[in-house]
Amino acid sequence: MTQPTARPSPAKPPIAEAEKDASMLKQKAMMAAHYDRLADAPETGAKVCSTFVPGNLNELVMCFDLINNLPEVNAIQSGLRRKSGAYVLEAEKQGHSDDVCTYVKSDIGMMAKGNIGPNGRKMPDPDVLLLSYTGCFTFLKWFELLREQYKCPTIMLHTPYQGDGKITPNMVQYMVRQLKESVIPKLEEVSGVKFDIDRLREYLKKSAEAEDDLVAVLKSARHKPSPIDAFFGGIYYIGPIFGAFRGTDDAIQYYQFLRSEVEERIAKGEGPVTPEGPMQDQRYRLVVEGPPNYTSFRQFWKMFYDEGAVVVASSYSKVGGTYDFGFRHDPDRPLETLAEYCLGVYTNRSLPMRVDMLCDYIEEYEADGLLINSIKSCNSFSAGQLLIMREVERRTGKPAAFIETDLVDPRYFSPANVKNRLESYFQMVEQKRSGTRRKEVAA
Ligand code: SF4
Repeated sequence: MTQPTARPSPAKPPIAEAEKDASMLKQKAMMAAHYDRLADAPETGAKVCSTFVPGNLNELVMCFDLINNLPEVNAIQSGLRRKSGAYVLEAEKQGHSDDVCTYVKSDIGMMAKGNIGPNGRKMPDPDVLLLSYTGCFTFLKWFELLREQYKCPTIMLHTPYQGDGKITPNMVQYMVRQLKESVIPKLEEVSGVKFDIDRLREYLKKSAEAEDDLVAVLKSARHKPSPIDAFFGGIYYIGPIFGAFRGTDDAIQYYQFLRSEVEERIAKGEGPVTPEGPMQDQRYRLVVEGPPNYTSFRQFWKMFYDEGAVVVASSYSKVGGTYDFGFRHDPDRPLETLAEYCLGVYTNRSLPMRVDMLCDYIEEYEADGLLINSIKSCNSFSAGQLLIMREVERRTGKPAAFIETDLVDPRYFSPANVKNRLESYFQMVEQKRSGTRRKEVAA
């Protein structure tokens, strides 16, 4: 009997290569070099320090010749490369619950499947885990799992929560004491390198220089049209400073370059570069709260730029530092400044502070409203978001909306639902505008 011949399936149109700014390409090269440095560590003998983005003490880590490895960034890279889905399933097979942060499950699953990094090479085992705890309890649990796996020394720097919305001298001194009495001596022990405070000052000076340029880039969204997208593009803008480059010449050069690129767009009246080219038409200016989805990042972004929606400010781009509110690393107060940095990151801010921040953004950037992307598995960000939404609406009179996705678990990105919600939201913004216009005419 002859077998029926399978009909060839129609060829899928190739996915067009995403357009990228020159600064994005520059960053890609920096990241590739960093991942190579990590993968080379077993041969070069360099020691590796795993730590997290919020409260990342890169300047201090560099004082001990340690290479900074950030598990959340590895999970993001796996998400963007569509590998995280399999890693999350692997972690669930091992017993990690549905509700656990998917960054953690992606990391655990990646380790179980050979710990291959985004450059296709094996990631090194960490020599030390440095947890500067800034408000997310998951960080503690995550490092407990890594400690079990790697049996390496663990260092904890505790950051008091900004429950009352202010940083007191006591809080700073409490952290400086921990740095002096515990963190620095342990890092000396692990690395075999003596701490040199002048070396730290040098790195902090470099950090502040790059931070100035980052803030200029973020504030550029006050222009109309906005030359940046502060959420989708913002993910790229914060990469080097939130990661392993803060305090380096590479970061200074990157942010100078990025700033000049953005200033050129302002001069030409151009919008941000999306994966399909420069964004021409800007109909809606939004403030976004919450992290993005990474597994369908490009599809998600397209839902915004297709509708002419540009994000002019986002809270996610502040998880590794609230530089736009004036904080700069200060080389004259090296340990105090590290403490104040940790105390000020977005994840360490109280709910009322987050509401104030979002309301300020709506006013400063003349936004049409607030959009919350609530992340199923991120309890830290998601708790209280409905309350935030109602309060921001009440105080600003601008419409707000709520969508739900996940960080790196592709099962929780439902394109049809998200698109529907966004379309209804843009209609709401239109109605609000025409209502305001009617009132103005009637007045
Ligand atoms: S802040 Fe959210 S995404 Fe980040 S580690 Fe905590 S739970 Fe996970």
